[in-house]
Amino acid sequence: MLKKDLAVCIRAIDYSETSQIVTFFARDAGKFTAIAKGSKRPKSAFDGPIELFAQGQIVYSQTHTDKLATLTEFSQQPPFTFATRDLFALHCASLAAELVNSSTDDYDPHPQLFDAFIKFLHDLDQRQDTLRLLIIFQLNLLKEIGLMPVLDHCANCKTGHGSRVTGHGLYFSSEANGLICRDCETSFPDKIPVTKTAAAAISNKEILSKADYKTLKEIEKLLVYHFTNIGGRPPKMAKYVLDI
Ligand SMILES: [Zn+2]
Repeated sequence: MLKKDLAVCIRAIDYSETSQIVTFFARDAGKFTAIAKGSKRPKSAFDGPIELFAQGQIVYSQTHTDKLATLTEFSQQPPFTFATRDLFALHCASLAAELVNSSTDDYDPHPQLFDAFIKFLHDLDQRQDTLRLLIIFQLNLLKEIGLMPVLDHCANCKTGHGSRVTGHGLYFSSEANGLICRDCETSFPDKIPVTKTAAAAISNKEILSKADYKTLKEIEKLLVYHFTNIGGRPPKMAKYVLDI
């Protein structure tokens, strides 16, 4: 049975001279992988070879969820432009795509996350605020997959801090799933220190929207640390985003 969906390519590898294996993040279906036979031929039903972040309406057939789907049509929208003119934006978008791929299950729909991902890619085309956009997307992702850390009070003893920080030291622990206060930090060996400024910004959208670059960098390091613990290994693209 043929299915229609809106989708964005989050991974594409060559399969043969003429075909590709493409992982899509689709609005209704969630993430899945399909073979695009003949996609690299000059004339195909896919508007040309399928690149990372290509998006539009797809038609595909799928018999079993544990088998590759077959892409039959792809009406591609005009490509995003950041990928060809802004290397840092490309690295940030690639990290976001990698995290969507590693954090969601096949055929597990996340329409709101799909919308947030497409908005993030559009925003990269329009605004020179790349790191902040990436952080906002990653927080959306954590919320959608049910792994949003506790950020407005101590994840262990529930003492308030975050945007209402009054204490001295603050830490973040993936094991505790959130910020932890100085009284609790000894129970969590995996913790990393967090400045009050970063703790306030990560727990408050308003403060995040005005945070300076140094704070954004600290938050991104914290998020990469957290995704590393969630996934059991560092995201491959993380070093390209943080080594700037
Ligand atoms: Zn505490």
